[in-house]
Amino acid sequence: MTDDTFDSTIVAIATAIVPQQGSVGIVRLSGSRAEAIARRMFSAPGKQVWESHRILYGYIKHPTTGVVIDESLLLVMKAPRSYTREDVVEFHCHGGAIAVQQTLNLCLEQGARLAQPGEFTLRAFLHGRIDLTQAESINDLVGARSPQAAEMAIAGLQGKLAQPLRQLRQKCVDILAEIEARIDFEDDLPPLDTNWVKIEIDRIATDAQHILDTADRGELLRAGLKVAIVGRPNVGKSSLLNAWSRSDRAIVTDLPGTTRDVVDSQLVVGGIPIQVLDTAGIRETEDKVEKIGVERSRRAAQAADIVLLVIDAQAGWLPEDRAIFDLICDRPTILVINKVDLVDGIDLSDRISIPVPFSQIVHAAVALDRGIDLLESAILTCARSSNLTASNLDIAINQRQKACLLKAVQSLHKVMEAVADRLPLDFWTIDLRAAIAAIGEITGEEVTESVLDRIFSRFCIGK
Ligand code: GDP
Repeated sequence: MTDDTFDSTIVAIATAIVPQQGSVGIVRLSGSRAEAIARRMFSAPGKQVWESHRILYGYIKHPTTGVVIDESLLLVMKAPRSYTREDVVEFHCHGGAIAVQQTLNLCLEQGARLAQPGEFTLRAFLHGRIDLTQAESINDLVGARSPQAAEMAIAGLQGKLAQPLRQLRQKCVDILAEIEARIDFEDDLPPLDTNWVKIEIDRIATDAQHILDTADRGELLRAGLKVAIVGRPNVGKSSLLNAWSRSDRAIVTDLPGTTRDVVDSQLVVGGIPIQVLDTAGIRETEDKVEKIGVERSRRAAQAADIVLLVIDAQAGWLPEDRAIFDLICDRPTILVINKVDLVDGIDLSDRISIPVPFSQIVHAAVALDRGIDLLESAILTCARSSNLTASNLDIAINQRQKACLLKAVQSLHKVMEAVADRLPLDFWTIDLRAAIAAIGEITGEEVTESVLDRIFSRFCIGK
């Protein structure tokens, strides 16, 4: 946050800028001088009226030289009916890099300040238009890599995450009020029903735990399921990745003009983004350990949620496969028996005896696009049985929110201990207050400037 959090009028390019791409680029101003700055730079021919929530057509011109920068549309949104609850003006310029950049420069020249990452959303939060969970959901929506991740972000944006948290916090506040009343007016009130306190706190802690259980699913939808493909050289790892990326349903953006190359997290299986960890390019060396890619496999597998161990159906289960398995066996692992086309007609169970347990075993001939569907189902089953997708709530908390909620649950348990140990009421209130503060940090009711800085610095500029 800056010293002039509310004083200055901020400006940023709100859309992605790529030369020769994107037909429209938006430059957004927010603050008390937004309209004054826009009026100096924008000429709207004819009898167009500068009114809130009305589109004007015209030219962006340098106010002193008169040089035309762009032909554009302009949208004024007067406070408080805007994203930030301040006066907001948007220039809808031609896309590409130059027109938007020059418009931005002109705004800066006219007295606006370049917005910090997430500063528009920060202002929306500070003006009370949204709470912190909604602000974070906006960032999640912008970064969503699958329809499910977007759906979860929209739920957060609609307040579905904040609502149960607020209820939990309010219940804590109610209990605190009861306890404090006994501290302040001990003689005037009936004694505190200790049993009621115990039951209520226990209930709140259980509800908080249910929300905590959504964290893994949230992480999965946000960051994607990390999958490592490991195995000896030549078993078909690259072919598997290629086959996967060719399958239409596996690509997030299947729009004309978008790249079909496999990049991290471009795969979506069953609505879950899949981040394939890079295990390609095994160096062939004389060093046997390096040759079978053990070290690389180990590193990739360590970072993975699920490991695909690929073996060659014709070669069978070799000691080198075993060596790789031994390094990754603590991860949920799917065995992919590849190149089954080369052993067609042969009963594989006779031929390949697998001496170790796998979460799933899939037979495939990836070079012929066979078995990819089975592999995808195996991944989803494996993810579910590893509790990576388990949740019946349509909300999911992020890592920051999880840390706060964990703190709250720990404090609630301390309250229960204090009650059980019959400690003086003052002791109960200390931990109850800590729980209230921790929940308040999630929604932003109790939050420090440094926490806000940390959250909003992760946003893009212009959001
Ligand atoms: P990697 O070293 O594990 O990445 O293996 P590659 O994907 O480079 O494959 C090694 C060789 O096996 C290539 O010649 C592939 O064409 C071939 N290959 C891969 N998958 C199959 C398959 O399902 N069937 C057959 N017959 N050949 C395959």
